Amino acid sequence: MSRSYDVVIVGAGHGGAQAGIALRQHGFAGSMAMLGDEPELPYERPPLSKDYLAGDKEFARILIRPAAFWEERNVTMLLGQRVTAVDPEPHTVTRSDGEVISYGKLIWATGGSPRRLTCSGHDLVGVHGVRTRADVDRMIGELGDTREVVVIGGGYIGLEAAAVLTKLGKHVTVLEALDRVLARVAGEPLSRFYEAEHRAHGVDVRTGAMVECIEEDDGRATGVRLAGGEVLPAQMVIVGIGIIPAVEPLLAAGAEGGNGVAVDARCRTSLPDVFAIGDCAAHPNGFASGATIRLESVQNANDQATLVAKAIVGGEVEDYDSVPWFWSNQYDLKLQTVGLSTGFDDAVLRGDPATRSFSIVYLRAGQVIALDCVNMVRDYVQGRALVVQRLSPDRAALADPSIPLKSLVPVA
Ligand code: FAD
Repeated sequence: MSRSYDVVIVGAGHGGAQAGIALRQHGFAGSMAMLGDEPELPYERPPLSKDYLAGDKEFARILIRPAAFWEERNVTMLLGQRVTAVDPEPHTVTRSDGEVISYGKLIWATGGSPRRLTCSGHDLVGVHGVRTRADVDRMIGELGDTREVVVIGGGYIGLEAAAVLTKLGKHVTVLEALDRVLARVAGEPLSRFYEAEHRAHGVDVRTGAMVECIEEDDGRATGVRLAGGEVLPAQMVIVGIGIIPAVEPLLAAGAEGGNGVAVDARCRTSLPDVFAIGDCAAHPNGFASGATIRLESVQNANDQATLVAKAIVGGEVEDYDSVPWFWSNQYDLKLQTVGLSTGFDDAVLRGDPATRSFSIVYLRAGQVIALDCVNMVRDYVQGRALVVQRLSPDRAALADPSIPLKSLVPVA
């Protein structure tokens, strides 16, 4: 007899955990199992490149809920095994140990794995992706023998790791292939600000840098060779060049998708009774003009999880329309982002970046679509309404930091 649950959640990360929490909160009384390939109970991933890497937070403090929480709510945790196949007709999943488990509803919340380099040396000892506790524990274990670190990829994760490792006394070089860091997620003023901050902290930030290979000695990374021949010595190489969504079993089962599994505005895949949420779900997003996108954020994973939980208990569900938000901590800088800036045609600076407290308001056709706020919580809190209501305030007023953003929101 195979084990059988009313709801099976695959992926014990942010989305999976929130789905379990929300199902019980909304009164779901059926049986539930969470299947994860990592051995740990669900934990917060953002600290991995921040306080956990820095040694400022121990693992127990980043658990999303303690073990007792899951026991009390009767959520069966089946950890340490990967789901390798989905069979939509009998409603079953197969784990890497061969066990077949039946589901009534399936919530697929598997995130993704770090994209690897394709050049030689990508799999040497000392070369790390940053996605799991195990990844970061391996890095921490090597810190004692590390003087020089090369970070490949100037996205948020790479920059956060660079900030922590610099504070730990390592000599860090950041290599970004494009002409500025954060190019895919932010406007140029923000990129230039962060490049300057990292340089001021001693990080060697190189843009337009092409990696040729990782050099080795006896199976260990010793440096990064750039196109052109320069070799940067490194005992540790961190690769932060995005993720590949973990959706192969679903696609193999016939679900539509490609870069992620395709879902509709209620997070339903094309397979019956199969939902997908979080980093792996390619969904239509109103804040991206209805385009199908994947969002890699805690907000998105949590909000999609809550929506699916409500749908499963039969509650009133509306199409997914949560305002995207995100944060990043580097040095003493807290960046908070609301909305999606992709496709902006105008960016208004509020305040002076030299004060290390400012915002950038992104507009498309005069409408506010996003804000990046650096050490500027007030703008982040007040600017949210501008994004949600898709308002078109006076540009000069937006540029004047003495005018509170809330005064630009019409009173209902
Ligand atoms: P995950 O949380 O990744 O959970 C997926 C789980 O499923 C993983 O445990 C995975 O191993 C498992 N899995 C995969 N395939 C299978 C399978 N076949 N069978 C069983 N289990 C499987 N977001 C922010 O909003 N702010 C931040 O500051 C921020 N910082 C980040 C820093 C780091 C280092 C990282 C890695 C991410 C950060 N993020 C941040 C992104 C955020 O953590 C993700 O968007 C979020 O974790 C997505 O949740 P998820 O449930 O989709 O995936």
